[in-house]
Amino acid sequence: MPASSRRIQDATTRLGPFLNFFLNSTFAREGRRPGACLFVTGDPQEGPPAGFVESLQRAAVPHNPNWFGYKNSEPAAQAIVAASLLAQTGLEYLPDDIAMTNGAFAGLATLFLTLTDPGDEVIFNSPPWFFYEGMIAGGGATPVRVRVRMDNFDLDLAAIEAALTPRTRAVLVNTPNNPTGRIYPEDTLRGLADLLTTASARFGHPIYLISDEAYNRILYDGRQHHSPAKYYANTCVVYTYGKTLLTPGQRMGYIALPPAMPDRAEVRAAIFAAQLLVGFAFPNALLQYALPELEQQSIDLSRLQRRRDRVVRALRGMGYEMHQPEATFYVLPRSPLPNDGDFTERLAARQVFVLPGLAVEMPGYFRISLTGSDDMVDRALPVFAEVLASLTA
Ligand code: PMP
Repeated sequence: MPASSRRIQDATTRLGPFLNFFLNSTFAREGRRPGACLFVTGDPQEGPPAGFVESLQRAAVPHNPNWFGYKNSEPAAQAIVAASLLAQTGLEYLPDDIAMTNGAFAGLATLFLTLTDPGDEVIFNSPPWFFYEGMIAGGGATPVRVRVRMDNFDLDLAAIEAALTPRTRAVLVNTPNNPTGRIYPEDTLRGLADLLTTASARFGHPIYLISDEAYNRILYDGRQHHSPAKYYANTCVVYTYGKTLLTPGQRMGYIALPPAMPDRAEVRAAIFAAQLLVGFAFPNALLQYALPELEQQSIDLSRLQRRRDRVVRALRGMGYEMHQPEATFYVLPRSPLPNDGDFTERLAARQVFVLPGLAVEMPGYFRISLTGSDDMVDRALPVFAEVLASLTA
């Protein structure tokens, strides 16, 4: 008998290309060496935002004997999030409808446990974040993949409609999108809302929209993010502070249920139980106490935008093809070699580490995270040029 459950074996199999890269590539062996130019994941290379450390230090001083007792969603943290969502979306979220989580990872895992049973289907859009498929399967439901439009990376509403069945329990949408950098337009989200409203009525049960908004504050060129919750009441918003603060090792985020959600009291109670059962998926006390200050902080977005502009301009100048991301940390150029893994290994041999597109269901592309430092960009740009020239020589 195998040592692990069939469910985790199945979910792990779905992580194949991700695991292959993170465990078996040159990056796995050499990516942590000094001098490496790291553009693989959204990990900080330049330290936290100003004030972050001091905020944690202040929050670490106990104000009462139970300061470090068990904490679930702290009322003060829920109130801060509700106020922030009101300012961002105009929706009057109730503090009780905010579940504080240890990041978007935990928010998603909690929702899959809360909403789905074996036999249910959850539609996700491809290219996806690495873990959607495995997490849906790990939660017991069946993942159903729908490809976005390849001409503009917008949602393919006709394909989503065709994938809906009486077993569809939820549709998962990620906007702004990792890895395409696309912000889904309001018209698309209205169209999705209409589709799901019609299908919910036809099937006789609500289809939930799970909205992963991890990057909803990493926006460029003065662009606006549109939350699907504005258009569809049965939306569960998932957020993490790990992107805005670029401190993903300090884990805090939330699930938010909009005021118009019909069954929100029941869903809220189920989320609370699921957070306990999934393994106490609440942020640590310290982070919740620091939230009034952390909510105000952010990485320097103008600096990130300048880096995006520089990288896109320089790579295009060399002959790489790519679109300009509207949001998120990621630039997604086409790989000059059909096998993106072969190409990223050539860069890796020169200590420049990027993600092969196959790991995010984008074979023939590679992903550059703009969280690499300016110094890393300085050193990497000549390598991008030389490796491309070596292929065409
Ligand atoms: N969703 C998306 C689209 C992400 O890119 C990430 C992080 N890479 C997460 C969720 C998870 O965020 P966290 O680790 O902060 O929970």
